[in-house]
Parts: sequence; C-alpha cells; structure tokens
Amino acid sequence: MYDTIIIGAGPAGYTAGIYAARREMKALIIGKEAGGQLVWAADIENYPGFKQISNIDLIKKMEEHVKGLGVEMKSGEINKIEKGKDGNFTVYASKEKFEAKTIIVAIGLTPRRLAIPGEEEFSGKGTSYCANCDGPFFRDKVVAVVGGGNSAIDAAEIMSKIAKKVYLVHRQEKFRAFAAAIKEVESRDNIEIITNSEVKEIIGSQFVEKIKVLNNKTNKETEMDVNGIFIEVGRIAATDLVKDFADRNEKMEILVDEKCKTKTNGLFAAGDVTQVPFKQITIATGQATIAALAAYQYIQESQGKNVKVVMDRSVHKK
Ligand SMILES: Cc1cc2nc3c(=O)[nH]c(=O)nc-3n(C[C@H](O)[C@H](O)[C@H](O)COP(=O)(O)OP(=O)(O)OC[C@H]3O[C@@H](n4cnc5c(N)ncnc54)[C@H](O)[C@@H]3O)c2cc1C
Repeated sequence: MYDTIIIGAGPAGYTAGIYAARREMKALIIGKEAGGQLVWAADIENYPGFKQISNIDLIKKMEEHVKGLGVEMKSGEINKIEKGKDGNFTVYASKEKFEAKTIIVAIGLTPRRLAIPGEEEFSGKGTSYCANCDGPFFRDKVVAVVGGGNSAIDAAEIMSKIAKKVYLVHRQEKFRAFAAAIKEVESRDNIEIITNSEVKEIIGSQFVEKIKVLNNKTNKETEMDVNGIFIEVGRIAATDLVKDFADRNEKMEILVDEKCKTKTNGLFAAGDVTQVPFKQITIATGQATIAALAAYQYIQESQGKNVKVVMDRSVHKK
C-alpha cells in the first residue's frame, strides 16, 4: 500500500514525487514516457536556476532528484482506477495493479490525432508527432508538416534544416503563430506552404509514401509523394481514465480546486492536465507541489491527526 501513486512522469509527476518523499510518504510514480512533453521541447530557457538547459538534461536532473529521494519509479500506462469502500485506490497497468491511499493524476497533454485513414497504421512508420524527436530520421527526404499554430511552424522550421523539402499544410488561410516565426518559415526556400488544405489520408506499404490532400476551397484532391508526415495540430487532455472520479471542462481538462483536489476525496490532479491556464513547466511543478502537500494533509486528517499548518519546518529544512 502506497501513501500516494503519482500517474505521469513529466515535470508535475517528478515534483509531486519530490514533495511526497520529503513528507516521508511511500510514493510510486508510474509514467508512460519519462519526461512527458519535455521530450518534445528543445532548450528550456524559462526554468528558474537554468538560463538555458536542454530538455534531456532537465529531465535527467529531475529524475535523479526524485530517485535520490528514494521514490519508486515504474514505466507503464495506467488504464483503470478503482476506489474501494475503505477509501483506498487500486490502479491498473497492463499486467500489474497497485494500491494507494491517494492518487495524484499528472498525465499532462497528448498530441491531437487527425483521425484519418492510415494515421494509426503508419504511426512510427513515417507518421510522427514530434519533429524534435524523429526529425533526424528524415534527412534529405520529403516530409509534410500539418498544422497552423506555433508547434507546426516550429516543426516546419526544424525539418527545413534536415529534410530536402517540406510541405506545410494548413487547413486555413492564415497561421495562428508568432509573426516572426511565420516570416522565418516563409523565407525558407525548401518549405512550400499549402493553405486551405486538409490531409485526408496517409498512404504507403511498409512506410509512408503519399498523402491525400483536399483543397477545401476548390474541392480538388491531390496525392503528394512524401516520406514522412509530422502532425502538429495541438494537444489534448486525454482524461477518460478519471471520468468517474473528476469533473472535467469542455476541453476535457480535470477541474481542481486551489488545493488540487478533484470531486473525489483522495484523488488530486496537477499540471497541464488540469484547467490551469498557460501550460508551462513552472506552473505544472507549482501545482504538483500543492497536490503532494494536500495529499499528505488528506492522509494525516483521515488518520485523525490535526495538520493545520502544512508548511512546517520539515518543508523548509529537511
Ligand atoms: C514542443 C514543446 C515545447 C515546450 N517548451 C516549453 C518551454 O520552453 N518552457 C516551458 O515552461 N514549457 C514548455 N512546454 C510545456 C511543458 O512541456 C509542459 O507545461 C509540461 O511538460 C507539463 O508537465 P506535466 O507533468 O503536467 O505533463 P506532461 O509533461 O505532459 O507529462 C505527462 C506524463 O504523464 C504520462 N501519462 C499520460 N497518460 C498516462 C497514463 N494513462 N498512465 C501513465 N502515464 C501517463 C506521460 O507519458 C508523461 O510522462 C513545451 C511543450 C511542448 C510540447
């Protein structure tokens, strides 16, 4: 029986682990992908203490910090949560289950899918959601980047330095990105911008070979030869895991109060997965701090102990 199980190994999950450990809680972090969205970022230039740090170094430092405090870490995906009559939780991964007095949900955001034929079939076979991670596999190849926001513009810019040719396909007339970034992309010789157009299908045999693109003004469909496609159409909160335990807003973000509590006693949420605005590392880590301390307080109170002041000496000194 853990005091807390933290679902998610991104900045919020790591921070919750650190604070749980400092409260001497028996904690387990289970995450699908260590580092979370930081894996897709590049250099981080707005995390206090580091004027500039690579995403990989920051992940490594966070992980070392958590492990150094004795927090257990497991790689895996939680697909079910149950709450027993005794108030404790059971969480299920594919082959294992774990029990805890409290849960901290820190599952962040996941890339939005286009939901078109071929997308799932060619995922990892030329279809990618991360130019930073998979870009180097497409050196001197032809790729398409789909989307119209900052991530798509960034991906097109990254890929223009690696690939021979980049098609930037956007379903609207205008991009929703920083003006300077759009200008940069427009100036690149090997980027061809295709607006008012939607990718309708990804086609190939072993790997991606073509995409079907529909011009939504002329209704004309064309097939384009590409070796890869980068889908950058935003990120969503995939929160069905907690649908029976937490209220969610129209964006499917988990609604929490100022102590990161959900509507279920003992189940907390933190980071990008909550309704918090401005999805940033500092915000995710701050919220996770609250969630871990609130989980500690919840356990103490359910044992009849009086924990009025959470920020006591051990938070500052231990
Ligand atoms: C390209 C890019 C660049 C960015 N650059 C910056 C930047 O420069 N500065 C900045 O402050 N922020 C930046 N961000 C935002 C920042 O990465 C996020 O705010 C931060 O990662 C949120 O942390 P999190 O822990 O809440 O969620 P995430 O980082 O999304 O972590 C979620 C974790 O949960 C895991 N998970 C999901 N579902 C399950 C499940 N069912 N079971 C188990 N584990 C699960 C995931 O695998 C992951 O480990 C960037 C984001 C992107 C995409």
